[in-house]
Amino acid sequence: MSNIIYKALRYSGAAWLWRETVQRGKATFLLFHDMEAADAERNFAYLKRHYNIIGLQDYLQAVHKGTKLPRKALVITFDDGHASNRALLPALQRMQVPVTIFLCSEIVGTQRHFWFRHSEAKPQVEALKRIPNTERLQRLAPLGFSQEKEFGDRQALTADEIGEMKHAVDFQSHTCFHPILPQCDNATARHEIIDSKRQLEERYGLAINTLSYPNGDYSERDIRLAREAGYTCGVTVDAGYNTLHTDLFRLKRFSVNDAHTTEELMVKACGLYALIKHKLHKPSYGFKPTLQ
Ligand SMILES: [Zn+2]
Repeated sequence: MSNIIYKALRYSGAAWLWRETVQRGKATFLLFHDMEAADAERNFAYLKRHYNIIGLQDYLQAVHKGTKLPRKALVITFDDGHASNRALLPALQRMQVPVTIFLCSEIVGTQRHFWFRHSEAKPQVEALKRIPNTERLQRLAPLGFSQEKEFGDRQALTADEIGEMKHAVDFQSHTCFHPILPQCDNATARHEIIDSKRQLEERYGLAINTLSYPNGDYSERDIRLAREAGYTCGVTVDAGYNTLHTDLFRLKRFSVNDAHTTEELMVKACGLYALIKHKLHKPSYGFKPTLQ
């Protein structure tokens, strides 16, 4: 179904028209996760050809100084810190593509797993996102998952890989263990938001100023804690574009989620896919897109 939509939007010219009109004066943030190295070169080449790729830190500087953004400014982000991200480094360096990768401070550098990738939990992942955090962890325990458990294989970047990549990549925070923040009690939310920043700074010598809310879910309390912790901004998966005046703790992103074809990338990167999903009342995340 999706492939038909991608092709229709591409070959009808709709995606092109949208990109060159609606999207032109905005800053678009894209979210990837686990992109395969085989897709990276093609995806980055497409984005370089059609957008002005800037770093997240360049966007923040423009906001703070009030300087103009280039037309069709594009910020590329990756959530989680998946082990596969290391294989993107040669393409990122060769093609000079700035990206931000958001790390879970207690998962990277360990053999702990992401709870939503635990195979026994997979059928329940969406339901587990909608219950209180303590209950989620209780339900995961009999499935063989606990946050601190070290498994036989790793899913996240190692400490050495982060050290190797940090000169080419902007690393930022995605909490400690990737809970759904609004489902956490105050003490847990505080720990997840504040300590992830401190740990990433102390362990890897990073300068952390941005929080990516896991699953794009956040509450007013979580924004308050992020400000208190000293973050400058927070990125969501609320679908829409950013300008120099967007609320910095509610920066919008389009979820591309690792495009395997140019049609898919084109249609998702321009924002049309999120609009259509919204029209069909199927937002990919819990928030209504605001396409402005
Ligand atoms: Zn995530």
